[in-house]
Amino acid sequence: MTDSPNADFASVTAETIQRLSDLVDADAERRISDLTHLVAIPSIAWDGLDPAHVEASAHAVAELLREAGLEDVQLLNAIAEDGTQGRSAVVARRAAAPGMPTVLMYAHHDVQPVGDEALWDTPPFEATRRGDRLFGRGAADDKAGIMVHVGALRAITEATAAQGLGLIYFIEGEEEAGSPSFRAFLEKYQELLRADVIIVADSGNWKIGVPALTTSLRGMTAGEFEVRVLDHAVHSGMYGGPVLDAPTLAARLVATLHDAEGNVAVKGLLQQEVSQVEYPEETLRADAGILDSVRLAGSGPVADRLWNKPAISLIGMDITSVALSSNTIAPVCRGKVSVRVAPGQDPQDAARAMEEHFAAQDLLGAEVTYRTTEAGASFRSDLSGSAAQAEMWALETAWGTTPVSMGIGGSIPFIADLTELYPSAQILITGVEDPDSRAHSANESLHLGDFDHAVLAEALLLARLAAEARQG
Ligand SMILES: [Zn+2]
Repeated sequence: MTDSPNADFASVTAETIQRLSDLVDADAERRISDLTHLVAIPSIAWDGLDPAHVEASAHAVAELLREAGLEDVQLLNAIAEDGTQGRSAVVARRAAAPGMPTVLMYAHHDVQPVGDEALWDTPPFEATRRGDRLFGRGAADDKAGIMVHVGALRAITEATAAQGLGLIYFIEGEEEAGSPSFRAFLEKYQELLRADVIIVADSGNWKIGVPALTTSLRGMTAGEFEVRVLDHAVHSGMYGGPVLDAPTLAARLVATLHDAEGNVAVKGLLQQEVSQVEYPEETLRADAGILDSVRLAGSGPVADRLWNKPAISLIGMDITSVALSSNTIAPVCRGKVSVRVAPGQDPQDAARAMEEHFAAQDLLGAEVTYRTTEAGASFRSDLSGSAAQAEMWALETAWGTTPVSMGIGGSIPFIADLTELYPSAQILITGVEDPDSRAHSANESLHLGDFDHAVLAEALLLARLAAEARQG
């Protein structure tokens, strides 16, 4: 074996690869039909909507896993922190043979609300095929993720390609509602869900025809600040001049968070340039709707600015509205900042850096306070782990092209929970989305070619993990 994921991997034979590929191809129409049935269930887990749909989709997923040959299939839930009962997750298991590892496969069966239905070209809950895409709410995020797991399971079962490997399917039912009972669920079923490798099928690929493994997520912290300058409001004509209003001082404070170029200027927030792919500036401009005249903030490769450097946004400010404005010097101003933390930095350290930054500012002696309100862990995996190596090989073999190791600027909070509860498990973040999948918006869709590749890649990964374990 060489270091290249491109190298032939002796323990999965060419015959097995071909057999799995044929089975995945032969099952393509049935997979789309099963996905269409799942999309037809409006399983939105938001409060105030009929929970029966989410329950129905849990049952439909359980049935698919049973049909695929799993006997131990249960609907389970836990109580969220606020005392409400969480939505049903499906947990299906096949025990590992002695000495063999266990792989957990995650996806979620709930979906985002549809938003303004007038913006949809076809009804959101009727999966509709146009060209090489399947449109519908959940067609990509994340009912396609479920079908990747089911499709791969069917193929390895039929080909007896991953014998002895322990399998756990964990299909959550409230991810789009913020996973309120996820932590409690993990704690309650920690032993039931224990695995050596965790595959999260809820992310995306680089672009159509080019697969990716998501290897980093930024962490986050947030905090509220207050600037106080007077003990009561005063007339701006009588006192303006020697006294600056609190919002003006707060604006000065906010301005210290970045340098003139737009780089984060808070000491102690980790900055790094480590990405290996080029993120095209035009793509970013088009996706984000950046005005033509606007120059990008910060320095260094765009991919690092998006994935590997910190970002600070002012996300709220309590200031008198223009409609209610009067000639008054405001005594106090509050605001809230959200900080995306570079992968690898402890969010508590980042929170402390923010606290120290605010404490160090002198706004003509005004009282400045800063209080951390949130801190969520980042995620970073390198490609040297055996499961990541196996996954890069599987992606390359299934797609026929070199996979990209990419980051995501946002956070997936439940990944931090998984890392914390299963510190020795290798986590692989995969998915079926491409940049045009429009998850969460109107006309969400799945690219059917990439869908097939994703199913084959997972089947190959499971086959290789089993083969590696047997070889010791
Ligand atoms: Zn999702």
